[in-house]
Amino acid sequence: MTGENDSGGWPLHYRILLAMVIGTVVGVALNPGEIAISGPVELRIVHDENAILFSEVIPETSKVLYSEKFADAAALAKSYPRLAEALGEKAELTVACDNPRARIVRDRSGVTIVWQRNHDGNPAVSQIAASSGEKLPEFWRLLVSQHPAGVAGGMTIAAKALGDLFLQLLKMVTVPLILTSLVTGVTGLGSRGNFGRMFGRTITYYIVTSMLAITTGLVLVNIIHPGVGAILPGGGAVVEQSEESVVEIVFQQVLRLFPANPIEAIAQGEFLSIISFAILLGIFINFIGGDHGQRLTELFEAAFAVMMRMTSWVISLAPFGVAAFMIFATASQGFDVFRTLAWYMLTVALALAIHAGIILPLIVRFVAKRSPLEFARHMSSALLTAFSTASSNATLPLTISCVEQQAGISNRTSSFVLPLGATINMDGTALYEVVAVLFIAQATPGFEMSITTQVTIALTALIASIGAAGIPHAGLVMMAIVLQAVGLPLEAQGIIIAVDRILDMFRTSVNVWSDSCGCAVVQQLTESSD
Ligand code: ASP
Repeated sequence: MTGENDSGGWPLHYRILLAMVIGTVVGVALNPGEIAISGPVELRIVHDENAILFSEVIPETSKVLYSEKFADAAALAKSYPRLAEALGEKAELTVACDNPRARIVRDRSGVTIVWQRNHDGNPAVSQIAASSGEKLPEFWRLLVSQHPAGVAGGMTIAAKALGDLFLQLLKMVTVPLILTSLVTGVTGLGSRGNFGRMFGRTITYYIVTSMLAITTGLVLVNIIHPGVGAILPGGGAVVEQSEESVVEIVFQQVLRLFPANPIEAIAQGEFLSIISFAILLGIFINFIGGDHGQRLTELFEAAFAVMMRMTSWVISLAPFGVAAFMIFATASQGFDVFRTLAWYMLTVALALAIHAGIILPLIVRFVAKRSPLEFARHMSSALLTAFSTASSNATLPLTISCVEQQAGISNRTSSFVLPLGATINMDGTALYEVVAVLFIAQATPGFEMSITTQVTIALTALIASIGAAGIPHAGLVMMAIVLQAVGLPLEAQGIIIAVDRILDMFRTSVNVWSDSCGCAVVQQLTESSD
């Protein structure tokens, strides 16, 4: 993708790294260690059929700020022992946080609500949430956003707003980018003639390796559990999960593949419907051919070029978004976020290393019948370019030349397998989607991680990786599909953006490596059947 260095000077990834550092330093400086909300606040805590509801008592409204559901009273008592004790048999507790009677503070150990038990001068205090197992992150954030205390509070809220603006821009380009990228990809395929059997083999390779990558991600994220105990933006929302079976969910996804009204699907941002409609559109543009086909092909190519440029522009703003989210994260959460993200990054990196360093080489050795080490050496300049640009598309010319000139694979194979692969075969992205979404799911209170959910995540991650464009951060943009499929909040993506660039560099190298291995496999299978 062009536009990486548009603003002159440093490449984007260095600017993002710098933004992370600056955002962190500013956030840490703003973090006073203990943040109190300003002004008197009265809170109502209601215990209602194993749900707890936190509301601020505002005359006439008393809107619930935060709620959490539990399977039974014992589960509530386990999560909030102090709160359960304070509630006792009562269904409701009102806490008047009007100093000095009560205080709500956020310090390094969590959110604490401290108040005097009675008014007869007894100094006993109760804390309803203090240890790391009793955090009330979302509730706290909402309260702070309504009562920001001091300059630090105000700046934290401003940083959050700026970060949200960047997320909004990313969302803005997603739908037109998917539509134009897929139509252009499919129409480009048709003009290369009919490759019948090669198409079958190539697609089989893409699906098998993507599923292997997804399985590696699933296994590691279930072993390491990087999201347990993490605090994410939007992560405190109560999630309504469906109790449908895999068959029902798959059937519903199949139904969504054929939108009754494609324009409505585009307007609603129904990604699956948009992807299938775009593929059909591309197929029928080729089918109709002639003048009309030509004109439409050119139209979509032009629109795609514009969308790529617009996406470049949005991505060039990433340093601001990243700095803003880092300020928000470090100023309001302390250092928890780094520990949390370190485990997340480690899980992604380890899973990618296993897929690229063990699974794909085994396929090269036993199916393509080549030496994986030698093949990797031949591909090294393409892999390094993929790493530094984080774009399969930008790397494509290098990938083709390495595959043909260094590894001796025919142009007939590479001209088909590589461009298609750069568009739809993204093992690294598929793996990343699974790890990132399960990380968010693990960090979302009340989200139940059933086998059905994991299967849905695996299948939609495959679709998301197929739909992702070969440009920086496309995987992050496409993650919305997977989050949407299992009902997770899109806002939770906010904090993982901070480390997306570095993970993108690794996953793009894996994407390009898998496309190259695919060439070797298809070449070998074609030669042996000729
Ligand atoms: N940057 C990746 C690629 O170009 C796509 C992604 O964001 O996962 O292959």
